Amino acid sequence: MKILVINTGSSSIKYQLFDMPEGTVMASGLVERIGESNSVLTHKYFKDEAYTHRIEQAITDHKEGLNLVVNLLCDSTHGVLQDTSEIKGVGHRVVHGGETFQQPTLIDEPVIAAIEANIPLAPLHNPANLTGIEVARSIFSVPQVAIFDTAFHQSIPPYAYHYALPHELYETYRIRRYGFHGTSHMFVAKAAAQFLGRPKDELNFITIHLGNGASIAAIQNGQSVDTSMGMTPLEGIIMGTRSGDIDPAIHSYLAKQTGKSIQEIDTLLNKQSGLKGICGSNDMRDILVQREEGNALAKLAVEMYSYRIKKYIGAYFAVLGKVDSLIFTAGIGQNSKEIRSEVCQGLKGLGIEIDSDKNANRSDSPQAIQTTDSPVKILVIPTNEELEIAEETLEVIST
Ligand code: ADP
Repeated sequence: MKILVINTGSSSIKYQLFDMPEGTVMASGLVERIGESNSVLTHKYFKDEAYTHRIEQAITDHKEGLNLVVNLLCDSTHGVLQDTSEIKGVGHRVVHGGETFQQPTLIDEPVIAAIEANIPLAPLHNPANLTGIEVARSIFSVPQVAIFDTAFHQSIPPYAYHYALPHELYETYRIRRYGFHGTSHMFVAKAAAQFLGRPKDELNFITIHLGNGASIAAIQNGQSVDTSMGMTPLEGIIMGTRSGDIDPAIHSYLAKQTGKSIQEIDTLLNKQSGLKGICGSNDMRDILVQREEGNALAKLAVEMYSYRIKKYIGAYFAVLGKVDSLIFTAGIGQNSKEIRSEVCQGLKGLGIEIDSDKNANRSDSPQAIQTTDSPVKILVIPTNEELEIAEETLEVIST
């Protein structure tokens, strides 16, 4: 059965077409700069081998973008389908499900209204996700499913999700920790359980997702019990351009000292901080090269980055009591032996000891990189949020 997975941004559409339940990727791609004169559609399709086709033309809106994608999917040269009717379901990534959604959900009018109601919590993301849903509903007449970044973390208990603010702020504005990257944390936890050959509801994990955005989750018996991102994705560990945790009084101090508005400070913390703010680059590959070349700020950035992750590992160790496995994933987690090694340095007392030879080994499959004496398994597991969305979509539409 063919399932199309869509991730819509304010000016972009990412897509992957899967043949399920095998999970084979038939095509994938990205429509970028929608609404500008120099839009680009990069379409990859897999037949006997992998091919790429690029279209550069003005794409006025998301509907035109998705229509181009659908035409390409069925095109006799670049396509992989005879007809769009082969697509039996569409899965949408939706960033914020608030407290409304704990599960992947079949989309209907009330679900759309509930996603709309959560717009104040994710003013940049939910409107774009809704556009994707609206456009896909106008093109396909098959069941569509919303998969929420926040849903996996809805199992976090109240003492972990509340902020120590006046309680009426929670009641009125729903200010609390929601957490994000839920699809990725869940995917790697499931994959780790499979790799270890044990049921996930008997295992405790600390999952460490290190991409441009980055977050850590404490997973107890297969359920998220805490995570580093908060009401928004700004909280937690240091990210590409986001500060992560800071003293909340810095906002008002900055406003007084610089005259910046709340909006400008928000942008500074989200877009000009993190690794980029510390050393000028948000690309970990560049930063590691610059550190080798003796750049002191690149060295500081890596030290700060690894130290902050280590502090969360300590905290989540205390939360979980017993940890079966530490899991590294996403761009930096999967690819950087340096960061994995620096994060795990000095954690032998917690039963975490990395094997440097295994750590240096690159693989696209899950692998264990701990020493034989390390009680905690240290796993590197490639994440695959799109496949998780396709699997959940299939599950929802099959029931
Ligand atoms: P996104 O959140 O945009 O999906 P990714 O998961 O692709 O991000 O991660 C992007 C990050 O991964 C960048 O900082 C990039 O430099 C880093 N990265 C990718 N490959 C490597 C590598 N070999 N070594 C170190 N960092 C890497």
